[in-house]
Amino acid sequence: MGDVWVVADIFEGNFRKVTFEALSKGRELKEKLGGNLVALVFSKDAASMAEKLKGYADKILAVTSDAFTPSFDLAWSTALKELVQERKPSLVLFGATSLGRGLSPRVAAGVGAGNAADVIDIDVVDGKVVTKRTMYGGKVIATVEFKSEPCFVSIRPNVMSVLEPDSSLASEVEEIKKDVDLAALKAKIVEVVKKASERVELTEARIIVSGGRGVKGPEGFKVLEELADVLGAAIGASRAAVDSGWIDHSHQVGQTGKVVSPELYIACGISGAIQHFAGMSSSKYIVAINKDPEAPIFKKCDYGIVGDLFKIVPLLTQELKKALGK
Ligand code: FAD
Repeated sequence: MGDVWVVADIFEGNFRKVTFEALSKGRELKEKLGGNLVALVFSKDAASMAEKLKGYADKILAVTSDAFTPSFDLAWSTALKELVQERKPSLVLFGATSLGRGLSPRVAAGVGAGNAADVIDIDVVDGKVVTKRTMYGGKVIATVEFKSEPCFVSIRPNVMSVLEPDSSLASEVEEIKKDVDLAALKAKIVEVVKKASERVELTEARIIVSGGRGVKGPEGFKVLEELADVLGAAIGASRAAVDSGWIDHSHQVGQTGKVVSPELYIACGISGAIQHFAGMSSSKYIVAINKDPEAPIFKKCDYGIVGDLFKIVPLLTQELKKALGK
């Protein structure tokens, strides 16, 4: 049994929240596996970024290479593969983001190890790493047990809680310089084009304004966007709204969409089906706006407004603009 590694997920120069979720889960897993908890930072700026992980790991490997760019996971994978072969961790955790979903199986295949993607739970049972992941569009939850080490696992963002930093974790930083032969890589990322949206990403958002079938069409989402603009919020949606083609699937919240945990979730014209709730139940405050007083969402929310969203949302927007001085 060896160490638990967490590969830090970096987006636009910052650690994604899932990095801290994985490191928090890692504290529990390292006790069961009997090793250390090690965070890995791959960046040209790794040593200074490593400072932000103090209190979250026993050790931090700050890995630099001239080949690294923030999204260049092929260079990361070469460096990570070498490190895994040299140091032999038991378990390597990633966030199930576009970066982790690419990196985890690529390195797992490179070292002949198993990979479990987008898991919603992970534990060590009788010395074996066991994960749970949804399958068939969320209809079943599969239990996946690893037969050998190292185990490569990407965890779904926002399903595991973040612990406070622990000052008893030494967080000693080891700087490692890796030479990556760019010519040997089979592909290179020439350019990353960001989707033209000023909004915060759904899984990282502090506030989400979400719309369901009650929004009645793409135009209805414009009403929600005005409220979201005032609050600096992201836009979420139910599957009914997505399946109707009113908004892109990337906005779907729920069992087969994204799992979110904002401080405030405003559900507009959403009935509160269990599959939707699966994606937003860990929100700190849930506000529901629905014209049906019997809608199930009212049993699950902190504040409920019974009424027509097309009247209430513009009023809220107007009052919040005044209150926030916008
Ligand atoms: P509805 O249930 O039709 O509710 C619309 C609500 O809008 C009603 O409560 C109505 O009173 C209200 N309303 C209507 N007009 C107004 C108005 N003018 N003002 C205020 N309120 C109004 N769903 C998800 O959301 N996410 C998932 O990831 C997901 N995964 C699924 C996976 C599986 C395997 C299955 C079987 C289902 C899944 N679903 C998911 C679908 C889910 O079961 C529900 O069908 C869906 O969440 C319903 O969306 P809704 O609340 O927008 O629509």
